[in-house]
Amino acid sequence: MSRQKDHANLFDDARSRLREVFDAINVHGDARERLMQPNLAMQVSVPVRMDDGSLRVLPGWRVQYDNTLGPAKGGIRFHPDVNQDEVTTLSLWMAVKCAVVDLPYGGGKGGVKVDPKQLSKLELERLARGYVRAIADIMGPDRDIPAPDVNTNPTIMGWMADEFDHLARGKVPAAITGKPPALGGSLGRVAATGRGALHVLDMWASREQRRPEETTLAIQGFGNAAYHFARLAHERGYRIVAVSDSKGAIYSREGLDPDPIMEQKTQNQRLHDMVYCDDSVCIAEDAEPIERDDLLTLKADVLVLAALENQVHADNVDQIKAGALLEIANGPVTSRADERLEERGVPVLPDVLANTGGVIVSYYEWVQNRSGERWSEEDINQRLAERLKRESELVFERAEREEISYRKAAYRQGIERIADAIQRRGNCQDSD
Ligand code: GLU
Repeated sequence: MSRQKDHANLFDDARSRLREVFDAINVHGDARERLMQPNLAMQVSVPVRMDDGSLRVLPGWRVQYDNTLGPAKGGIRFHPDVNQDEVTTLSLWMAVKCAVVDLPYGGGKGGVKVDPKQLSKLELERLARGYVRAIADIMGPDRDIPAPDVNTNPTIMGWMADEFDHLARGKVPAAITGKPPALGGSLGRVAATGRGALHVLDMWASREQRRPEETTLAIQGFGNAAYHFARLAHERGYRIVAVSDSKGAIYSREGLDPDPIMEQKTQNQRLHDMVYCDDSVCIAEDAEPIERDDLLTLKADVLVLAALENQVHADNVDQIKAGALLEIANGPVTSRADERLEERGVPVLPDVLANTGGVIVSYYEWVQNRSGERWSEEDINQRLAERLKRESELVFERAEREEISYRKAAYRQGIERIADAIQRRGNCQDSD
């Protein structure tokens, strides 16, 4: 199967995975019908006044996949490849992952098709505010709560939260998570996705009786989640042999320290007060540059996928030599590639469990905003660790008991919870 065909339609691919789960755990009737398509998919045109006075109108989306367990929840990405199919799929994955870790949320996702690195800081702020104005009618703490995703960060969430407050004529901090702490953001949120992924890796490693010191990691990606994961994994004793970003990759057999790499990579960004960092990890001294694609086929113990979807597909899966995969990005392995890895006995710690740290701490932010409390970072990290331990153990035990992959076990855990709630809601809702 060609790479093109393998991931021509992300949503079809995601739905084929869903059908398999429905069959395996006997989901019938209402839940099966409801979960095959999103509740609401909104396409908007976001007008942005450019610094030179001209107007650009950018296509954007917000999709609420399901709201059975609670309001829709999920990030907003700014990327040139964003499209409705992608946003819909990502919103479905949000619904599954919130259910896997037992959060009172449905799934949502948003995006704008734009290369944000081409915008000035003020243009970016106008875009962020314009996007919120476009989707404000379907947002709110009990309806749909956006957060950061690819190329969006606390600064952008701060602008969005401020815009929403203006529209609501009052303070509604729980309408958006991932805000800067000064605007009601939670401590620990920035590092949460990476921290959560490390907990999942640690739990798996200890089940396998494998010590961090004897485990090598090759990490695709060096964005927010990847960097914090790498930093914490390095502290924990794992040996990081390679990292990459959109511009290149570096390798060191002795192991890389993520902090000086980040320090060098972001030097220009700090100097020029830029929202995005334009330099590559390749700027790092004492590391050997390698081809980006070669990172995927390194012989590391764990290949950590922390960039974008569809990185491991039918055409390159057989070249993967890592002993296990950890998915920090959403959907980095296509379902065809996944089947192949399962046949080969290569375990995959799946996105819907491994990258839930971010949305878990978003949930803590929402709870703090609604109650007016401020929790300490220690308290938040402790709660995150406990929840992930509890839910991951359920997934690991189920995988063992039913002799299935971790992904299948996680999906079964999440879908069972959603399907049960759909059945219990009754049969005669207004929306039917
Ligand atoms: N964008 C992140 C994700 O894909 C976080 C979502 C959130 O915090 O709501 O999980």
